Amino acid sequence: MDKPSPYFSNLKCRECGKLYPKEAIHVCDFDFGPLEAAYDYEAIGKVLTRQLIESRAHTMWRYRELLPIDGEPTVGTQVGFTPLVKADRLAKALGVRELYVKNDTVNYPTLSFKDRVVSVALSRARELGFKTVACASTGNLANSVAANAASAGLKSYVLIPADLEQGKVLGSLVYGTNVIGIHGAYDQVNRLCSEIAGKYGWGFVNVNLRPYYAEGSKSMGFEICEQLGWHIPRHTVIPMASGSLLTKIHKAYGEFTKLGLVDAAPFSVYGAQATGCGPIAQAMKRGTDIVKPVPKPETIVKSLAIGTPADGYYAIHAMRDTGGFAEDVTDEEVIEGIKLLAECEGIFAETAGGVTTACTRKLIETGKLPRDESIVICITGHGLKTQEAIVGKCGAPRVIKPSLREFEEQVYNPDAAAATA
Ligand SMILES: *Cc1c(COP(=O)(O)O)cnc(C)c1O
Ligand SMILES: [Zn+2]
Repeated sequence: MDKPSPYFSNLKCRECGKLYPKEAIHVCDFDFGPLEAAYDYEAIGKVLTRQLIESRAHTMWRYRELLPIDGEPTVGTQVGFTPLVKADRLAKALGVRELYVKNDTVNYPTLSFKDRVVSVALSRARELGFKTVACASTGNLANSVAANAASAGLKSYVLIPADLEQGKVLGSLVYGTNVIGIHGAYDQVNRLCSEIAGKYGWGFVNVNLRPYYAEGSKSMGFEICEQLGWHIPRHTVIPMASGSLLTKIHKAYGEFTKLGLVDAAPFSVYGAQATGCGPIAQAMKRGTDIVKPVPKPETIVKSLAIGTPADGYYAIHAMRDTGGFAEDVTDEEVIEGIKLLAECEGIFAETAGGVTTACTRKLIETGKLPRDESIVICITGHGLKTQEAIVGKCGAPRVIKPSLREFEEQVYNPDAAAATA
């Protein structure tokens, strides 16, 4: 058993504030509010400085005092610290002054931001003594649980809607995990997982380990601040499935401010969804915090297709409290977004990245995002995992014989090129 962390003190109900011990529990007994990790910020403030953080390895664990485990991380120790790319060509295309891409398409080891949450959840699962871990997933979480459980020697079960993309299915199967396809949407997968978790006592990263899992998302916010030279960006655009990532980037900016690691400054967070499953964005646009479930998501953006988003209410309040907003985009706009990001910045994102890019464009065009202040967009998963979405939408290679004459006739005519130069 590890000594309890002097920094991570309790779980705490988001609704009534009641404190709970740091166990595999996730809802309050009194009001069914979600439990969240709570910290002793005074103790953290005495040790955690910019200098200490900068002296550590380039992984998400350089902020370890603000992550909810007791000992040293044992799973996903190399996750995080992905590039923050100054996206000048995309900025020009969108007509804004200062734009950055937080590029989690290259997160280690499974090419999505989910490696952050799984690293924390499985490190904590081991501390709590679990031998079998599991999840309900729209694809990326399954990939990450499968890979990280394999490397940790944990047994794993991943439950997914049966109609996911090939890349997401193979990207779980290859690790030798138990992949269970469910006839149904994510909400039905998740409900089944709650029943299994209650019955067999496995560590479900997004059910009974959810308070630990969710905190891993904060690392994306911490990294953005550090990579901007210890500044909070004025505007951050974040894709939403359950809404958790958005609430945790909001929390991360708040914690860095509270600890004096960044200067207090106004910031706004914006949420991005697909129109075919955009319950949080649509509630935000209607001006309410009542999220209407989407029983049958219909979109190519499967990774964000959660019809009953667990953190939707809190995401709306985070956007509202910071003066942010939300948008949603059609599948055609998603594909345009994927291509725009790829052509401008050389970054091949999955459908969720197309959502974020296209929603950013829409928020700029409608004046919700100003053109002369810093904007960070969070690109959360790699395009090689969702190839179906763009097959046939990017043209095809021109096929010729291996002859110079044919090349000059059909591809590149030097005289014509000189004439137009
Ligand atoms: C899971 C996921 C998200 C966000 O999920 P939340 O449930 O809102 O935290 C964003 N992008 C991708 C690619 C994902 O897989
Ligand atoms: Zn409560």
